[in-house]
Amino acid sequence: ESLSSVGIMTGIKDSFTFGKIIGNGAFSNVYAATCIKTGKEYAIKVIPKQKITKSLDSLVREIRIMRKIKHPNIVNLYKVYESFSNVYLVLDYVKGGDLFNRIIAKKALPEKTVKKFSKKMLGVLDYLKSKEILHRDIKLENILLKSHDNDYDFKLADFGLGAEFSEKSTMRCGSPGYIAPEVLRKQPYGIEIDTFSVGIIIYILLSGKMPFHGSTPQKVLEKNRSCNICFHDENLRDVSKQGIDLVKKLTCTLPDLRITPENALMHKWFTSADNRSKSVY
Ligand code: ADP
Ligand code: MG
Repeated sequence: ESLSSVGIMTGIKDSFTFGKIIGNGAFSNVYAATCIKTGKEYAIKVIPKQKITKSLDSLVREIRIMRKIKHPNIVNLYKVYESFSNVYLVLDYVKGGDLFNRIIAKKALPEKTVKKFSKKMLGVLDYLKSKEILHRDIKLENILLKSHDNDYDFKLADFGLGAEFSEKSTMRCGSPGYIAPEVLRKQPYGIEIDTFSVGIIIYILLSGKMPFHGSTPQKVLEKNRSCNICFHDENLRDVSKQGIDLVKKLTCTLPDLRITPENALMHKWFTSADNRSKSVY
């Protein structure tokens, strides 16, 4: 597959003014940029062509997938450009930093906040299912917060490992600590792997701890593989029974028994009335 198959424009420097660097990943640098015509701000992911000779397919896939998606909680791809040496993805600029750094600064979040976050994230999973897309690398670093004013309104980023259902992959991917056990067992997998990762994230937000921790990625991966999650951790002491129950169901080892995003949204944690202020009498 070639880049021309996804429709790319040239002349990005005529349309955008580049500002400071706001992030970097394995294959890219991300810059703040302003559209010269409208004054609107964007994040532009710059990928050197040199680095994509081996992984052109995955870049084309990332672009194709992002073009299929439009959701308030997913980073939008507006345009794709190329120059002699780079490919440029023009994205929403999400300004609140990533959830990884937020949780390091704040430790655990209040259950009420986590509930708001979880509802949105399960909505994202339900949407991705309707579009037949897997993210395959949902983790704190790829969740960007919209602002510094709250800890729950976000946009999911980085579809660099994304896949379409039709591919029916067994490719091992993801990040140690978040990977569904069926992926590590090299079984064919589906949408349930993203559900598992979201369960891990909700656990981390509620407890301030990684359920699979270790001093090296290898040790984390070992724990991730055996998939024993401690639900009587003292950091979870104040979390409601319903909250714990949902996280258990999202992180169920067997993909066929794992709760679906749709059913998770109807779980007691969201529907029970214990959020309402109690009557004084
Ligand atoms: P890679 O695929 O190389 O890992 P990412 O898409 O994850 O690249 O981007 C790398 C980093 O750049 C992110 O971790 C984040 O800090 C920052 N970043 C990426 N996209 C945006 C965006 N739309 N708005 C703000 N920051 C972003
Ligand atoms: Mg990334």
